[in-house]
Amino acid sequence: MRAIQAARPGGPDVLEVVDLPAPVPGPGEVLVDVAVAGVNFIDTYRRGGVYPQPFPHVPGVEGAGVVRALGDDVTGVAVGDRVAWFDAPGSYAEQVVVPADRTLAVPDGIDLPTAAALALQGLTAHYLVDSSFPVGPGHDVLVHAGAGGVGLLLTQLAVARGGRVVSTVSSDAKAALARDAGAAEALRYDLLDDLTTELPSLVRDLVPEGVAAVYDGVGRTTFDASLACLGVRGTLVLFGGSSGQVPPFDLQRLNTGGSLFVTRPTLAHHVRTRGELLERSDELFRLASIGALSTRIGLTVPLEDAVSAHTALEGRRTTGKVLLEVRR
Ligand code: NDP
Repeated sequence: MRAIQAARPGGPDVLEVVDLPAPVPGPGEVLVDVAVAGVNFIDTYRRGGVYPQPFPHVPGVEGAGVVRALGDDVTGVAVGDRVAWFDAPGSYAEQVVVPADRTLAVPDGIDLPTAAALALQGLTAHYLVDSSFPVGPGHDVLVHAGAGGVGLLLTQLAVARGGRVVSTVSSDAKAALARDAGAAEALRYDLLDDLTTELPSLVRDLVPEGVAAVYDGVGRTTFDASLACLGVRGTLVLFGGSSGQVPPFDLQRLNTGGSLFVTRPTLAHHVRTRGELLERSDELFRLASIGALSTRIGLTVPLEDAVSAHTALEGRRTTGKVLLEVRR
């Protein structure tokens, strides 16, 4: 089968097209013909060696497609089912093995690219607004990279729960997308000379007491500003580092900042049981089915062009979801 392989840690150009034997599903697993593979920022951390990963490896953890074969002892999934997944390593390939109890059945009326866009980034946006800092009516929250894959979904879910969202973005086109998703304001953080001092001041012009929560997937460049944007007893949800990882910091800053909270959550801990996974995915699919949650697929390239997808994502040139088309 055709697949993409990262031969060694490095930039996007370490990704190469290879021919590999198709994987074989073990007990409790299904083999899927991949229609689209989702590209996520975490794929770039793994490719670059930021997150520990054996090399060579086939990148990707997410996608949507059609079940081709079943391993032993699989229940609840049949050959021919349309499924999506979010934690199956090796997804940049024509076929991938997925644990049956981690598949998401794609409802009629939802196409496979939309299902892939709702898988990892949708589940992430869901747990962030539902569990990390539960947004409710009257909450002002700040969402960094508001036109990104997670950002656009997170904004819509936060607004649907009654929150008011202020976004940060790096272009006017991204600002328009963030506003379309429901953000009350979209601030150009890329234009600031000193983001750490100027962003909190812009945010406090809009929310004088400071925001109740900041959802920060940008990390190194925004972390200090995020803390300074919070009101008393506010929560900083640090969920990624697209600009780099945050260095260690002095906990005493939480005291002087106003009895602040910081959490560094990850998706795996928020979909630990089949029940919790389905609760979140059912709500996402239901909202998408009734038109209350839109997915933006900002870039789709053929599987062979994974290099350009990674280059665009790391170069801040993408909006919404990035997909690799595997089967036409
Ligand atoms: P995005 O589509 O949001 O892309 C990343 C965005 O980060 C860019 O578009 C850009 O937006 C912004 N950015 C700011 N500074 C930089 C920089 N120096 N280099 C690159 N990008 C920068 O990606 P995803 O939606 O896939 O992921 C968003 C974040 O969520 C990532 O940090 C990812 O690791 C994290 N994540 C965490 C999960 C968890 O459970 N903890 C699960 C899933 C994702 P702009 O141009 O507007 O600044």
